[in-house]
Amino acid sequence: MPVKNRIADMLPDLAAIRQDFHAHPELRFDVHRTAARVADLLRSFGCDEVATGIGRTGVVGVIHGQRTGSGRVIGLRADMDALPIFEQTGVDYASTVPGKMHACGHDGHTAMLLGAARYLAETRNFDGTAIVIFQPAEEGGGGGREMVEAGLMDRWGIQEVYGMHNMPGIPVGHFAIRAGAIMAAADQFEITVTGKGGHAAKPHDCIDTTLVAAHIIVALQTIASRGVDPLKQVVVSVCTVATDSTAHNVIPQVVRLKGTVRTMDVAVQDYVERRVAEIASGTAVALGASAVVSYMRGYPVTVNAADNTAHAAQVAQAVSGQVNPDTPPLMGAEDFSFMLMARPGAYIFVGNGDTADVHNPAYNFDDAVIPFGASWYAGMAESRMPG
Ligand SMILES: [Zn+2]
Ligand SMILES: [Zn+2]
Repeated sequence: MPVKNRIADMLPDLAAIRQDFHAHPELRFDVHRTAARVADLLRSFGCDEVATGIGRTGVVGVIHGQRTGSGRVIGLRADMDALPIFEQTGVDYASTVPGKMHACGHDGHTAMLLGAARYLAETRNFDGTAIVIFQPAEEGGGGGREMVEAGLMDRWGIQEVYGMHNMPGIPVGHFAIRAGAIMAAADQFEITVTGKGGHAAKPHDCIDTTLVAAHIIVALQTIASRGVDPLKQVVVSVCTVATDSTAHNVIPQVVRLKGTVRTMDVAVQDYVERRVAEIASGTAVALGASAVVSYMRGYPVTVNAADNTAHAAQVAQAVSGQVNPDTPPLMGAEDFSFMLMARPGAYIFVGNGDTADVHNPAYNFDDAVIPFGASWYAGMAESRMPG
């Protein structure tokens, strides 16, 4: 099963669709034009059901196989949103919307999954049901979470789910994947330290919030150095220190700290969340102040299930013959993680060749990737639901 011939034949159509999305980028949940076009195309391909407005602007297509007696249901997911970037590619189908750009290749992801949907609806060479999932708001906003919370998995009985992202720096059509954590969790915290402000020449009449905050900053570094297994990855960074004093002789009443936490493991993430609160409030109390901690979880760790990852790598191997099955994890975050928390599955990278990196104004998705990615999506449905 190399690149599917039928999908290769579709390349001119799929590239035109991709370039149309590229010229009309939309942000976060406001992907109305893109979602409407996706839904129209899915209907024109003969999908058995097309649902819109799932998780605000998500689109779902249902494709039954020639047989469905296996009861198997496989979800395939792509993201549709662009980024707030001024495009500098110079291509003739560049963004028509100043300040918005498909700089992460989600135009390509959408085109590849549309190609797989068209192929699967034409051939139906599987025993079960393929669900194609087009989500909004991957670049902040948590569109994946909204679709899961809207009942995506239960409504269509999805049993496994698969996602893909293009990757500059990997040759076109080569794949990379790993079992276990492949993308990090990204959390934020904010600590508000309250003491007693006053004249800096009378520290004994004050509770010095700057000194308390300094102790908290230092003590937070014991989370990584003393609390977490040295063989596990964790980042705890305090990035903002703000006081309500701008004078050289006023002890501030309040100091606010803001920072970020990156982890690759839910147990470590739980531990860090608990310790940030304990260290901040305990240190403040020990020094006569008080601290209020808010900890906001962002996208969770993206975790590939071992069995599903092995199948994903096998299909990728069959498509291109080039798969790295043990690629290093990345400290970026990805909201396909919410779908992988709801169902087992896997997330794979497909090479975009020697292009600018994603989120760069010179980045562009390479249409030559489309047959590889679309064949992988389609191959996952066929191989997980053999007819
Ligand atoms: Zn991105
Ligand atoms: Zn992306």
